[in-house]
Amino acid sequence: MSDSLPYGRQSIDEEDVAAVVAALRSDFLTTGPLVEAFEARIAALAETPHAVAVSSGTAALHSAYFALGLRAGAELVTSPLTFVATASTAALLGASVQFADVEPATGNLDPEAVAAALSPRTRAVAAVDFAGHPACYERLRPLCARHGAALVSDAAHSFGARRGGRAASALADLAVTSFHPVKLVTTAEGGAVLTSRADLALRARRFRNHGIVREAADFRASEIPGPWHYEVHELGLNYRLPDVLCALGLAQLAKLERFLARRRAIAARYGSALASIAALELPHSEPDTEPSWHLYVVRVREAKRRRDFFDALRARGLGVQLHYAPVHLHPVFRAQGFAPSRFPIAEDFASRALSLPIFPALRDGDVARVIESVHDAARAVL
Ligand SMILES: *Cc1c(COP(=O)(O)O)cnc(C)c1O
Repeated sequence: MSDSLPYGRQSIDEEDVAAVVAALRSDFLTTGPLVEAFEARIAALAETPHAVAVSSGTAALHSAYFALGLRAGAELVTSPLTFVATASTAALLGASVQFADVEPATGNLDPEAVAAALSPRTRAVAAVDFAGHPACYERLRPLCARHGAALVSDAAHSFGARRGGRAASALADLAVTSFHPVKLVTTAEGGAVLTSRADLALRARRFRNHGIVREAADFRASEIPGPWHYEVHELGLNYRLPDVLCALGLAQLAKLERFLARRRAIAARYGSALASIAALELPHSEPDTEPSWHLYVVRVREAKRRRDFFDALRARGLGVQLHYAPVHLHPVFRAQGFAPSRFPIAEDFASRALSLPIFPALRDGDVARVIESVHDAARAVL
């Protein structure tokens, strides 16, 4: 590993390289047999009957919200403590984005705050498995069901995580994940929509490919002019994930369990080695969950010390990052009336958070260096 340790990065080995090279030499570069093979593998791992591979996690969110019918007049309720795409893709469909505050322990959506944010126009609630800790689906599910709202899981951080003995991605009506290089496994760019509902999978699949309908049973033409015929009933985009990248994804998935085990081991090591730093709060995992540890987010107890701690860690070669600036405070959402203090728990979380390096290729020596640097920086500035 080079001098500076990033907060996350991909792990690519010779098998991954060989898989991509073989795909490049095949007859297909984009839509070919590896797309279906990749989808079958992610569906099995996610414990959902249907998986639709798309070109990014953002495309997955956009396709999922489209499938659920989010549009002008409908509302999405989501967490402010997430990447902007969880909210922006709903807004791009014309829906109104509402936020609900998070739980202080995990940074995940607080079901009580969600209950208060629901309105007759709420079409969907999107929980985010922050840092890889599955949200409280056993409480969100009945709440959404009573309200007639769909439950979406933004599982960009939690592919492979489990809660109550089930894959986190199987706990909502529809889950989306990302295969960006910092995520749990990578296809360079890529993502997927995961669902047990065939109707939602079909809508997402069509949206991914310009809205093109090829199923003869669904044609609206009174006469089919020939075998070339297809129809567009609703507009879509080109969100396809190419065969070449599915080849990389399949090779990566074979290593998912090993990657997760390594992340869990690093998290356990940080947990025991950093617990003595009184000025830091370490991440909390709930009972009966197996987080995927996409991020290892510590919180400085005093928000006003965070900047110095950030600088001190950067000076020691740790590529620490903030996940995330609260989404409702971006100017685009402020223009819709959101202001500071509206979601105090998420804002407090974000004002004190820092993500330490965690990724499978981090060696034991790197982990020791992170621990030493964190202790040293805490002594210096906390
Ligand atoms: C990474 C991420 C996304 C977007 O995924 P991309 O593949 O980068 O488009 C969406 N939501 C969350 C929570 C993410 O971390």
